[in-house]
Amino acid sequence: MPEVERHSYDVVVIGAGGAGLRAVIEAREHGLSVAVVCKSLFGKAHTVMAEGGCAASMGNANEKDNWQVHFKDTMRGGKFLNNWRMAELHAQEAPDRVWELETYGALFDRTADGRISQRNFGGHTYPRLAHVGDRTGLELIRTMQQKIVSLQQEDFAETGDYEARIKVFAEVTITDLLTAPGKAGTNAIAGAFGYYRESGNFVVFEAPAIVLATGGIGKSYKVTSNSWEYTGDGHALALRAGATLINMEFLQFHPTGMVWPPSVKGILVTEGVRGDGGVLVNSDGKRFMFDYIPTVFKGQYAESIEEADQWLKDNDSARRTPDLLPRDEVARAINEEVKAGRGTEHGGVYLDIASRLPAAEIVKRLPSMHHQFKELADVDITKEPMEVGPTCHYVMGGIEVDPDTGAAKVPGLFAAGECSGGMHGSNRLGGNSLSDLLVFGRRAGLGAAEYVEGLGGTRPGITESDLETAAKTALLAFDPPADGTPENPYTLHHDLQQTMNDLVGIIRKEHELKQAIEKLAELRERFDRVSVDGKRQFNPGWHLALDMRNMLLVSECVAQAALLRTESRGGHTRDDHPGMDPFWRNKLLVCSVDPDDFGQTVPAATVTPADQIPMRDDLLALFDYTEVQKYYSPAELAGHPGATP
Ligand code: FAD
Repeated sequence: MPEVERHSYDVVVIGAGGAGLRAVIEAREHGLSVAVVCKSLFGKAHTVMAEGGCAASMGNANEKDNWQVHFKDTMRGGKFLNNWRMAELHAQEAPDRVWELETYGALFDRTADGRISQRNFGGHTYPRLAHVGDRTGLELIRTMQQKIVSLQQEDFAETGDYEARIKVFAEVTITDLLTAPGKAGTNAIAGAFGYYRESGNFVVFEAPAIVLATGGIGKSYKVTSNSWEYTGDGHALALRAGATLINMEFLQFHPTGMVWPPSVKGILVTEGVRGDGGVLVNSDGKRFMFDYIPTVFKGQYAESIEEADQWLKDNDSARRTPDLLPRDEVARAINEEVKAGRGTEHGGVYLDIASRLPAAEIVKRLPSMHHQFKELADVDITKEPMEVGPTCHYVMGGIEVDPDTGAAKVPGLFAAGECSGGMHGSNRLGGNSLSDLLVFGRRAGLGAAEYVEGLGGTRPGITESDLETAAKTALLAFDPPADGTPENPYTLHHDLQQTMNDLVGIIRKEHELKQAIEKLAELRERFDRVSVDGKRQFNPGWHLALDMRNMLLVSECVAQAALLRTESRGGHTRDDHPGMDPFWRNKLLVCSVDPDDFGQTVPAATVTPADQIPMRDDLLALFDYTEVQKYYSPAELAGHPGATP
């Protein structure tokens, strides 16, 4: 067996984005030893790309804002499929998490009277996004890293070793989680196996608790705002270890990705552009969003240009602009306009901020957007409109967790951030991810710490045969294929992206989804013959082959769940089943892998419907009866104060 470097920790956090770092801080604050492992360089996680801001009802821009309003907006955005307990905790705790970041050294933009400034975003009733220009994610990561360094300095002062309690393993990819019979006799987490991307050398972390914080799955799609790290690793690691995924049919296609020039296709234009007054216009020069206010949002959005523009000046005296409807609605509207022949030359629509704000103000409020378009596309957004269209952006689906602790189905496994599921239901509101990372990163770190403390010293062990199997699986792509026709991982990846884009994209149809499932089965067969040249030292083809293992499994979950859900809700639009179906409102689609298949390189996924736990009466009562009537059955609303006896 190849040599394997060994480490032992109380908690291993896989992922060094916002969720991972917040979990590290929490577990370390409880005195535990923590390893943080990440695929890329430390400080370069996907969170760094977050632009618009972090949603928290601090009430600085409008004092009517509070956690109840934020909770209601989040549930509406998710079309009432959200895990309501997560939405409640998130809305209640987000302001404290933002303020806490300032104690770590973050400095958010300020209002004129010195409070944290908050900006408008789609689906949020009041200006709610705490931000640092359009570089909020960078500030979030920078300050949490700073906090980690300060904790390491405390550890040095006490033990003489900076890494006594927190050690970073950068550019290490985890390929498998290891389990063993735990305290209750069932399989529990025993550790994680991976490799150094540079040397190809193997490494194992023995730990009774693992927090997955690996982010999303966007690299399974051709047009995406996501970075190379988003290959669904955490989702697949969890499934193969015996945990479940939920809501995988719900993918957010952000309405405003760049569509031109081709070199930057898919790159995001933050919703902050519309929050600061930018408007969507079709090729006839019409602000078309007024034509796309869906029935469930009627009455909540401005119905004329004058009213929308008045709302920008003072959001108490008018209703909000439909340019800021939730993302699923705006993405579908753009799709319709393009389909109707009112799109731009390159298949998008125009997003115009140039005619709405003075150039200096645009550069001040949106420095990264201005820089990105100027440098990468030679478009000056202070002078001309951008061409934008939907891009695969965020996965609402993820690892099924306990809302309070982040615990997944396997004892010792925890998850937080984009790789976990439930919080956002069928559609996430912009800005609700950064706050999700902070709230549930902390909770998962705490959950893991309490779990380890509860073990009282007994830890599941890792066997040599576990290591041999993990190493053998990781090296499969170096074996010559049995039938002599090798598959190139890049070709396979390209074919997967094309399949997902064309057949499981923004608008879905039964026959296309069935076709996708057949294609995915073919791709899985082809994957068995995937072969790479060269050695284990920095070998991108090998890295991709390992990532493909995860993308194929996760894509299967997305396609199967999308076929089963015969309705349109949030980030899942079925052309053959337009509109929401009350039957599906309380149904979760749960993805799992049969325990007999755990050992397979890419096991088959099974998707089964399960009932959602009904919302607590006091939370349901926060909504007007007439609003929840649009989603709930009379029986479900029997306890609502507005129900007639
Ligand atoms: P990430 O920050 O992606 O971190 C994942 C970590 O996991 C990385 O360190 C990665 O290296 C590691 N990893 C993955 N797989 C492995 C593996 N196998 N082994 C080891 N390590 C692994 N949300 C908002 O709320 N507001 C915004 O303004 C906003 N703007 C956005 C702009 C863009 C362009 C994009 C793409 C997203 C934006 N989002 C925004 C969404 C938000 O940024 C993400 O949902 C969030 O950052 C995810 O954080 P995370 O901690 O879950 O994962």
